[in-house]
Amino acid sequence: MKYFFNFEKLGYCKNKKNDGCILCKIAAKDQSIESLIVYENEQFIVSLNLYPYNPAHCLIFPKRHVVDIRALQPEEVYTLHTLETMMISVLEVQYNPAGFNIGFNMGLAAGASIEHLHLHIIPRYPNEIGIAELLAGKRVLVQDLKQTQEQLIAACNEYCKCNKLV
Ligand SMILES: [Zn+2]
Repeated sequence: MKYFFNFEKLGYCKNKKNDGCILCKIAAKDQSIESLIVYENEQFIVSLNLYPYNPAHCLIFPKRHVVDIRALQPEEVYTLHTLETMMISVLEVQYNPAGFNIGFNMGLAAGASIEHLHLHIIPRYPNEIGIAELLAGKRVLVQDLKQTQEQLIAACNEYCKCNKLV
């Protein structure tokens, strides 16, 4: 049996995939996408989730299209951890949550609707399920995304100044 590989097509498929990747578009500052970025450095972006589970639900993702956590370089892992601790501290001060869910969903079966690797940081509150959510099956968000964004941009800048991060 013979196998045929069309490498040109392979490249095309890969490119097509990246062209359609919403996180790559955000990283490329695509004007057709509403920016919810609250912080960025050379390697990473911190953004609000467009469909938040709770107010101030943030995503941290590499600017380059990484799919598997094992593809991150050691210095990227260090930067990611720095940003993760920054966001926990910032969210703690700004929203006073009782806890956090922090993690990656890798693969469709795990609930990853976007293949580009992203770390969720979700502030959690006691008694957060309200009657409207139970009845409607929807979560009620108490703050406008743009307002949350402005608040977190300022808080991240302040945090970086105090901790001498750029
Ligand atoms: Zn991507």
